[in-house]
Amino acid sequence: MQATEQAIRQVVQEVLAQLNKGGAEKSAAQRDGDWGVFKDVDQAVAAANEAFEKLSDAGMDARRKAIECVRQICDSQAEELGTLEFNETKIGRLDHKIEKLKIIKLVPGTEFMRTDAFSGDNGLTIVEYAPFGVIGAITPVTHSLPTLAGNVINMVAGGNTLIVNPHPSGARIACEGVRRFNKAIHKATGLENLITIIEQPTLETAAAIFAHRGVKLLCVTGGPAVARAALESRKKAVVAGPGNPPVVVDETACLENAAKSIVKGAAYDNNLLCIGEKEVFAVESIFDTLMVRMGQQGGYQLSAREVDALTKLAFTPPTKPGDHWHLNRDLVGSDATKLAELIGVKVPAGTQLLFGETDVNNPFVPEEQMMPFVPFIRAKNVNQAIELALEYEHGFRHTSLIHSRNVQTMTKMGKAVDTTLFIKNGPSMAGLGLGGEGYLSFSIATPTGEGVTNPLTFTRSRRCVLVDSLRVI
Ligand code: NAD
Repeated sequence: MQATEQAIRQVVQEVLAQLNKGGAEKSAAQRDGDWGVFKDVDQAVAAANEAFEKLSDAGMDARRKAIECVRQICDSQAEELGTLEFNETKIGRLDHKIEKLKIIKLVPGTEFMRTDAFSGDNGLTIVEYAPFGVIGAITPVTHSLPTLAGNVINMVAGGNTLIVNPHPSGARIACEGVRRFNKAIHKATGLENLITIIEQPTLETAAAIFAHRGVKLLCVTGGPAVARAALESRKKAVVAGPGNPPVVVDETACLENAAKSIVKGAAYDNNLLCIGEKEVFAVESIFDTLMVRMGQQGGYQLSAREVDALTKLAFTPPTKPGDHWHLNRDLVGSDATKLAELIGVKVPAGTQLLFGETDVNNPFVPEEQMMPFVPFIRAKNVNQAIELALEYEHGFRHTSLIHSRNVQTMTKMGKAVDTTLFIKNGPSMAGLGLGGEGYLSFSIATPTGEGVTNPLTFTRSRRCVLVDSLRVI
């Protein structure tokens, strides 16, 4: 009897020891959040805050390693992840979904971090760029994983961690990306949950993140509704809002380059980019030649009747005074060939973009269509073209473009439109360092003014002052 009791006690102790050992070995990431993917906002914020403390202790080298994991995964797994994103969202172009992940390596990381100094008779002052803590990020369906990955690189470089509320239609790929990033980061640094994400995002989970005391800063990338919600929130918000980029083409422009650039920019991912060319105001004297050049660069010109048919499919008219046209979201990000087919037009293989002449009353001009049809409007002269560009950019101050060789005209338009990106003689992506100088980000903060976001966007400036000493010269 005695022996049996002892044996039982020993067995129980061994079992308990095993259970405890298992519990300790199972990391917080695996226990609560499936490598950063959470059901619950509170749990995700708590995990991201814990991760923030650990990241703060781990130093710059850990940030550098974590960022390298994200860059490396986006590059080496671009085909697989791009295909998953394309299959889930069903918008845009597969080749460009893959490319948008390949170029994530161009998003700046810790190399952008710096310390400023003032040195003088009164001693030495340094200004350092400190993290906020946990950042609440809202991402769009148009580039779900690329926006998330770019945000991670910028934000972690600044020493922050994230809770992400992805667009519901791109949530699966966003969660898959987060799992892969976190696993690789854990392996490289031992850190967990630098990125947390809500598995089934809703407007309620977004609102919970906006209001959460554990979230110190918001970064919202999306259309008018979410931009408004973030601007109304009580937290500081970096808002990358909607655009409707106009293009002006004047009589001095290289029309071949203008046409090539417009096709390249507007056809990219079937015109899903917020910076993509959305309407063209070309001066009368070169208008017809520009249309011919468009046809030679991969565009297909629709007749007035065909434009009309496409317009009826793409938009529903306003129903009450003060309302605007409503976009048919089923056509967003469709291929040019599919749009043409829907109106009974067969276009040559390789057609990337549809275009046609309209007046300003056509809804393709004021609305952000996000599909590969671009309206061309005749302007009497470049002054009128600039005025129209200003009007139809709607004061978003997002992106505008001009094709011109006249420096005065460029300057005049630049001053008038006052946009965050102003691109001359190239496609829109040149504004993000892709064929133009500068660096890449998928979040361009427009109403809040931070511009093309970078690691310093997500930091607090802290001044450290030593009086009368340490100036050693
Ligand atoms: P969207 O506005 O429909 O959704 C964006 C995100 O906001 C999603 O995660 C969505 O779930 C969320 N959301 C929407 N309404 C909300 C609300 N009231 N409260 C909280 N969250 C809300 O936009 P989309 O179709 O995914 O993306 C396209 C839009 O985003 C376009 O307008 C485009 O110009 C803009 N965009 C801007 C940038 C930029 O850098 N400025 C970059 C990409 C896209």
